Amino acid sequence: MRDCENATPVILTGDRPTGPLHLGHYVGTLKNRIEMQTSHRQFVLVADAQGLTDNADNPDRIRRNVIEVCLDYLAVGIDPAYTTICLQSAISALSELTVLYLNYVTVARLERNPTIKDEIRARGFGRDIPAGFLCYPVAQAADITAFKATLVPVGDDQVPIIEQTNEIVRRINCQAGCEILLEAKAVVPKIGRLPGVSGEGKMSKSQGSAIYLSASRAEIESAVRQMYTDPGHLRASDPGKVEGNVVFTYLDAFDPDVDAVADLKARYRRGGLGDVALKQRLVDVLETLIAPIRERRAALARHPDDVLDVLRQGTKASKITAQQTLDETREALRLSALV
Ligand code: ATP
Ligand code: MG
Repeated sequence: MRDCENATPVILTGDRPTGPLHLGHYVGTLKNRIEMQTSHRQFVLVADAQGLTDNADNPDRIRRNVIEVCLDYLAVGIDPAYTTICLQSAISALSELTVLYLNYVTVARLERNPTIKDEIRARGFGRDIPAGFLCYPVAQAADITAFKATLVPVGDDQVPIIEQTNEIVRRINCQAGCEILLEAKAVVPKIGRLPGVSGEGKMSKSQGSAIYLSASRAEIESAVRQMYTDPGHLRASDPGKVEGNVVFTYLDAFDPDVDAVADLKARYRRGGLGDVALKQRLVDVLETLIAPIRERRAALARHPDDVLDVLRQGTKASKITAQQTLDETREALRLSALV
């Protein structure tokens, strides 16, 4: 048994550099990362190799967005003094662990994963699913276990992936005859899935339904203007529906004044609150949240090499941790002794 009772718990989480980060990331995971970083040892992975699994024909998109994601991290409050930010593809031990772990999962199990099923449908792969895409939960298991993470702050789409990780961990530990790898727990916030601005599906970079943390006021206004409210609410004086009304979903997620939102809901249900006024409140709430992030981001973007330095330093430190887990795992699986 590993003696980890008194060790500082480790967090691992990450993002695919398929675009800048958005409000879904903020409520789903970034807020938790910022809150937990001072009391935990935190690694944040820019998952560029995973980004390639559905962007094989467009690697420039992934390369370009590595720095965008790092800018978002620093602007939103992920602090390199507490959090190690690293680049997945540069840590070869992660790929080596993935190759070992692939033997502890079946293709049928990967195909049954509900998140993978949804994502395959959304991307229209049909039968032509890149093998790397189908297997990305295995690579994610390698990422989580390489850092001995026991906590993973994620949106609820990632819960089946963590379950998959823990199945692999149990199989390998059983084979090794000791607890060489640690199981991990998803930390999912109350709003674990922010819908896209259309109200359909989750907000996602790949589905073009996002409000970015770098959005200008005009972009916020345009996104909020498109939001679905209640089609039966034609005049301000008409009673309107709150359930399924995307503007209220966003107010619940982002407006810090819970009592004021409850009041607005009551007025909307009764009649007497128009969509224009309701949407204006949401624009103001989002602008208050995003404006300081946008300003910090613009200042950081003037010194891109400093930002990349944070990533370089973090990657260097992460390589050592991941290599150690790889060595231990190889040994536990009795692979390492001969040469
Ligand atoms: P892509 O469309 O390229 O998959 P994405 O927008 O889904 O991008 P990811 O990089 O896959 O973003 O997700 C990173 C993290 O953010 C994960 O923990 C995921 O659960 C969380 N997350 C992403 N979108 C949302 C959302 N709409 N609501 C809550 N959490 C989210
Ligand atoms: Mg995703």
